[in-house]
Amino acid sequence: MSLFTADEYLEDLFSFDAEEYRRRGFSVILLDIDNTLSPHYAQRPDEKVKGFLWKLSNAGFRVILLSNNTKERVATYAKNLPVEYWYFSLKPIGLSYEYLIRKKHLKKEEILCIGDQMLTDVLGGNLRGLHTICVKPLEDKDNLPGTISRALERVIRHVGKKM
Ligand SMILES: [Mg+2]
Repeated sequence: MSLFTADEYLEDLFSFDAEEYRRRGFSVILLDIDNTLSPHYAQRPDEKVKGFLWKLSNAGFRVILLSNNTKERVATYAKNLPVEYWYFSLKPIGLSYEYLIRKKHLKKEEILCIGDQMLTDVLGGNLRGLHTICVKPLEDKDNLPGTISRALERVIRHVGKKM
């Protein structure tokens, strides 16, 4: 099992079966925003996303939006949603995961990490031994860090195939 491989891959985030994961013992979701829940240009979630987050909440999930983006972006996005959030997370290497686990008294085995990027969301979760789910990015066009990150992903995949 590579640090760059998610535990699971999900084509469509909105097909995530909340009840099933609750049965499996998960109760916390560290959830990426950009290109996972909404495109970068969307300042606020649309109705579909809102419905999805309420579904998670009603299923008993504690959802924490974990984003590398700025406070303004994340706080604006999260307003009036049944979620907590953490911005400027510096995924994958920042200490946000450790901080959240300690501060919010989370149990590692109950945490799902969900996001679209191997080098941030998946690697960040894997480095802490958390269960990772990689979703298909909503759009190919990305911001600059995302573009660089994705180019690196392609290189790692390519090299990985040859090894
Ligand atoms: Mg993302």
